[in-house]
Amino acid sequence: VALAVTVGATGCGSRPGSTADPAASTDAAGSLVGISMPTQTSERWIADGGNVEKSLKDLGYKTDLQFANDDIPTQVSQIENMLTKGAKALIIAAIDGTTLTDVLAKAKEQNVKVIAYDRLINGTPNVDFYTTFDNYTVGVQQATSLLTGLGLLDASGKKVDGKGPFNVELFAGSPDDNNANFFWTGAMDTLKPFMDAGTIKVPSGQTKFEQAAILRWQAPVAQKRMEDILTSAYSSGKKLDGVLSPYDGLSIGIISALTSTGGYSKGNLPVVTGQDAEKGSVKSIIAGEQYSTIFKDTRKLGEQAVKMVDAVLKGEQPETNDTKTYNNKVKVVPAYLLESVIITKDNYKQELIDSGYYTEADVK
Ligand code: BGC
Repeated sequence: VALAVTVGATGCGSRPGSTADPAASTDAAGSLVGISMPTQTSERWIADGGNVEKSLKDLGYKTDLQFANDDIPTQVSQIENMLTKGAKALIIAAIDGTTLTDVLAKAKEQNVKVIAYDRLINGTPNVDFYTTFDNYTVGVQQATSLLTGLGLLDASGKKVDGKGPFNVELFAGSPDDNNANFFWTGAMDTLKPFMDAGTIKVPSGQTKFEQAAILRWQAPVAQKRMEDILTSAYSSGKKLDGVLSPYDGLSIGIISALTSTGGYSKGNLPVVTGQDAEKGSVKSIIAGEQYSTIFKDTRKLGEQAVKMVDAVLKGEQPETNDTKTYNNKVKVVPAYLLESVIITKDNYKQELIDSGYYTEADVK
């Protein structure tokens, strides 16, 4: 009661969209929400954490934001700590989607609501809702931009005949991240007709997810794999035309390998894709080095997660728009999916600057 009084005094009773009965809403007001993010090595997660924290505070919630250094035991203990501090809800972007079963069982015992953020949490019944982008479509977009960059598709997405064959190498994300499989499947479904027709060749022969996957999305590991492939499959002077990369961080490692071991000049690189529209990679796209990235507006994702938390804590049903895709092997987690956008040199201004996501100075 003391807590409710304090919070009421700071004006949280006037939160927008508050339609639940007064008792439930007084309960929700001022509650602690734990935000567990995987790492600070990538800009996007820092932005995600910051956006979510700010929006929750604006609604009168208390927050505990933690980053786990891409280390599973750290993430588990940070979440345990949130529970000890009395968190009423958790927003979690898991490092490994399968390692949170025990700590989430504890959350359930304490009636704590759990929102999976961006990455699905697998193998537990104790995840209430999920918000993410349409991850299969992200993969389709990555492959589509690769095909466009190679000239196999025109700007309207129509097949261009008489081109190729092109030599391409394939990278996938972290095998413990549920999204990585979706990105890969979307991309491979899109590339398959071209691979079947022989217009796309993979000289390394490494076309399986397990061969292409980069544990924990580590740039140096991607760089090493690219160097090894260049040495083993391209040393006879064969030209590499394109690289499917699922994340900007990996693209940076891949481009380093291409300019060092591969001997490619920065102005004449293979078509390299990416994801997240991180500042450094947008600069690289503007400079004509990396070809494309996928923009996932983390402001919108944060907003969605906060709406979900606010609803569940008030005893309301959060809005979802997908109730069939994200089966975590125990249940299908009701989800809200957002749309992503392909970014190239041609549209970065409109999508990233005009939308206020970045300032011109951010990417200069
Ligand atoms: C996210 C991507 C990100 C990747 C590496 C994935 O789970 O969906 O946006 O590029 O993790 O951080």
